Amino acid sequence: MARLRVLVALLLGSLLCLGAPPVARAAGSAVLPLAGPVVRGFDPPDQPWLPGHRGVDLLGAVGTEVGAARAGRVVFAGTVAGQGVVVVSHGELRTTYLPVRPLVPVGTQVSAGQAIGRLRAGHPCPGGTCLHWGLKRGDAYLDPLSLLDEAEVRLLPADAATQVAALAGYRATAFDSGTTVLGVLSRPVPGAVGSPFGMRLHPIFHEWRLHNGVDLHAGCGDPIRAAAPGRVLRVSYDSASGHRLEIDHGTVGGHRLVTGYLHATGYRVGVGAWVRRGEVVGTVGSTGWSTGCHLHFIVTVDGRYADPERFLKG
Ligand SMILES: [Zn+2]
Ligand SMILES: [Zn+2]
Repeated sequence: MARLRVLVALLLGSLLCLGAPPVARAAGSAVLPLAGPVVRGFDPPDQPWLPGHRGVDLLGAVGTEVGAARAGRVVFAGTVAGQGVVVVSHGELRTTYLPVRPLVPVGTQVSAGQAIGRLRAGHPCPGGTCLHWGLKRGDAYLDPLSLLDEAEVRLLPADAATQVAALAGYRATAFDSGTTVLGVLSRPVPGAVGSPFGMRLHPIFHEWRLHNGVDLHAGCGDPIRAAAPGRVLRVSYDSASGHRLEIDHGTVGGHRLVTGYLHATGYRVGVGAWVRRGEVVGTVGSTGWSTGCHLHFIVTVDGRYADPERFLKG
């Protein structure tokens, strides 16, 4: 267990990167299409007909934006053998991205880092879903990491796959035991917790009720940010919640994770929209049963209310 804790501590650096948007760097002509990490490297076969790995795998969350590695022109955006593929031409070199849901039509000129698709499931790797990123010159497959300056590649050590699997296992254990699950959610607003999760005397109704989330300090009109990448499940209004938003983050550590945001002035995203971690989704308000501007933030795990502080700490 102590060993696992050390491992988890070591992993924190990379963990925090898992949900980050595509990396946009001012310097250099190429960028990683996903924040990564790289969990499987380039391992071409000795002969073209032999099995091998003709690209690199970057770990990412389904729905995350995939950016063009380099400026170029989209020459393919469609389906190959049931998987969504985007191909960008950079003169004599081409980069390939799969499986993705293309966001740009053929012919689009893209800059380095510009979103060209969203990651889909279909290329499993230890710890989750991966983007398979390829580089070709003519018919020859090259290592796409060769496009990047060495210093820019966040390549995990040789046992990365084992580490990522351990991380997934750690998360599953933490979810099941009710303890803190590090790094899963980012703060939707920077403010401190004013009123914690749990039974409390309701400030308006003056009776004991379950406070099913936390109240985070925030000013009227402050931006509300998505706590993790996901898909908008619900945008609604009722007299208790005021303007309410729910984001589905899919399965984390084997459990369905959904976040809720209440009392906003309004939201700028619609049902079905994919959002990035940290993306502004609305503005803080005091709609519904609320005594002043703040964000009531809810987390549900498999449909049951959970203490958001378990996920915000760390
Ligand atoms: Zn691959
Ligand atoms: Zn509240």
